[in-house]
This record gives sequence, C-alpha cells and structure tokens, in this order.
Amino acid sequence: MQIPGHIDPVPVPRAAPARADGRVDLVGLSKAEIRAALAGAGLDERQAKLRAKQLWHWIYNRGVTDFALMTDIAKAQQPWLAERFVIGRPDVVTAQVSTDGTRKWLLRSDDGQDYEMVFIPDADRGTLCVSSQVGCTLNCRFCHTGTMRLVRNLTAGEIVGQVMLARDGLGEWPSQPDGRLLTNIVMMGMGEPLYNFEQVRDALRIVMDGDGLALSKRRITLSTSGVVPKMAQAGEEIGVNLAVSLHAVTKEIRDEIVPLNRKYGIEELLQACADYPGANNARRITFEYVMLKDKNDSDEDARELVRLLRKYKLPAKVNLIPFNPWPGAPYECSDPERIRAFSNIVFEAGISAPIRTPRGRDIMAACGQLKSAAEKKSRAELDRLAEEKLAALG
Ligand code: SF4
Repeated sequence: MQIPGHIDPVPVPRAAPARADGRVDLVGLSKAEIRAALAGAGLDERQAKLRAKQLWHWIYNRGVTDFALMTDIAKAQQPWLAERFVIGRPDVVTAQVSTDGTRKWLLRSDDGQDYEMVFIPDADRGTLCVSSQVGCTLNCRFCHTGTMRLVRNLTAGEIVGQVMLARDGLGEWPSQPDGRLLTNIVMMGMGEPLYNFEQVRDALRIVMDGDGLALSKRRITLSTSGVVPKMAQAGEEIGVNLAVSLHAVTKEIRDEIVPLNRKYGIEELLQACADYPGANNARRITFEYVMLKDKNDSDEDARELVRLLRKYKLPAKVNLIPFNPWPGAPYECSDPERIRAFSNIVFEAGISAPIRTPRGRDIMAACGQLKSAAEKKSRAELDRLAEEKLAALG
C-alpha cells in the first residue's frame, strides 16, 4: 500500500563515511571479516587466522583498545596493526548519572552524528538501552526521537561500540560469565532496529558470541514499532526476545500515535507476533503500552487489549509506561489511578501488566531527549498541521 506523505519511512538513509585517517575500525566486523581484513593487508592465511582469533579475544573479552597491550602478538607486529587498524569507541559528548543510578550518554560518531544510550541498573539486573539509528523515520507522536529527521543508520560497529563503551564505564573487563552489572540489552534507543536490519543483526551476533561479550539471546530484546515484513526474519536470523510498541488497540488511535500502523495494521502485526519464531510461554513477547491521558487509557481499551492478545493466543506480557513528557509534547501522562485500573483489568485476565517505574527523569533519560533538549514543536506535530492545512485547502 502506498503511504502518502511523511509516514512513508525511508529505510535506506545515507551510509556512514569511511574514517578520515583511512584506518579500518575492527569493532563491528565479524571474525571472518577481521581475518579477511588482515589477509587483505598482507598477512598470509595462517597468520591472518591466528591473529583474528587473538584480536577477537583482546577486543571482546578483554576490552583492550591498544594493540601495544596485546601481549601474545609479536612486538614488531603491533605498530603494523596500529597503522592499518583501530579499535574504536564512540566519542562521549556528555555522560550523566541520575539520582536513581540511571546513566545516560550522548555519543558522537566519527562523522559528527549524535545518538544516545542509557544504562538502567536494577536490584537483579542492569539493562543497556541501545540506539540503532541517528534519528528515526517513524514519527511516533509520543516519542521525542520521532521529532528528529533520520540522519543515518548506525553501523554494526557503532551499535556494538555502545555496549563496549558501557562496559568500559562500568569497569566490566575482562568479560565474566557471572556477577556482571550489564546483564541485559534492549534495542530500544533511538531508531527502528528493523529498518537497519543487517547492521543490527551483525552487531547482536557479535554481542552474543561466546568467545567475547557472550550475552545470551535470552537477555537481549529487540523492540519494533511493527515492521511486519521483517519480524519473522529477525526471529530466524537473530533469535532474541521480541518487544512490540503497541500503544493502542484501535486503528484510529494507533494510526495517530504510531503512524506506521497505517501501513501495517494491528491485526497484521499481532499475527506476525503469533508467528514469531521461538515465542512461547517461557519467552513471552512484551507489548509496550505508553499511557496517554484520555487517549488510550480507558477500561474499554484495557478490555480490548485482552481480547486481542487472547484472539491471537499470544504468550504476552504488557509493559505499561507512564508517558514521560518533553517540552512541546502533544500528550499528557495518564493519572496514576487510571494506570492502576488499566493494569488491574489486564492482570485479572491472567496477563502480566506491570507499570514501569519512570527512571532517570532528572537527566531526561527518555529516548531522544538529550539530543534535542531545546523546546520546539515536534516534527510530527508540524507534519500533522501541514496535512490538516492541505486537507482544508482540498
Ligand atoms: S518510538 Fe521508536 S520507532 Fe517510534 S519514532 Fe521513537 S525511536 Fe522511532
């Protein structure tokens, strides 16, 4: 179906440029790609294979960024590597720590693009919220990132780089199987991960690799706004947990809040969830539901949500998210009693529906808020007003 105007996403934004110094960043390359890069630079096959294995260990198990510290690589070869390669990290523009322990970083790529990452510590886990794009094409109206234009997809290296940087910041090298602070990853930062499928897949494969960062796929969650044609592929090729930004149960309201709904509707989306490989009661699908006052928060909405989840027999958990407004936001957060009432209806139907505690409000930890803290009318709002104007003229 052809989507008119701004809700048609742009899935192929411009690519990241090569490094100005001509060196190749090894972070984000697969083992085979590192080997090929070494062979391409002149090592024979046997050497390339051995060095690739060693480099992988130093990069992803030990967190080392300096070739001179790699003690099992010949001293003479270390400068040779440093002339041709680099083990990069994103630049940190700002790093903030909230009173509740939430940490937020504004990061900058080599070509000067800013994106964000957030670490949320809890009693029994620590979750890193990772970005997949600079900006986003999808324009969800409750989301601050949706007010920014998409600049480009992040590369696999920039996605893995976020995890590496968080590990640096938490002092979590070498990689340990137990006692980690960073235990979980959610692809829930800036961007729609399924519109940057290959890079996200490659990055998560590196994160899951047992010889390196070694995070289990059960501890990684990919969150989508509902890019239906890519969901099965994500299940097959990445295999991590799935979260879906549902946010509404009627076409009218979801069309408004998540404009992608005009392309892939609720029923189509829920069918894709039912078909998601690996979803079962032990690995439930999380449905994100932002609570917006007088918009999607009635008892009737809660009952419709239950009906839909039952209809598709979904092993589901519903995450109720109190809306975290930003300056110029078009919505208000539902009252706490309303959120509780909504949650109770879903719980009583036998579906878990916890209310997420807002985190890091003092450091504006909601997605997209740090990159653009200045008050402005959201892009989604401007687009909507322009559409209304056109309709009035027509
Ligand atoms: S909620 Fe996600 S998909 Fe929607 S605009 Fe924000 S970043 Fe993009």
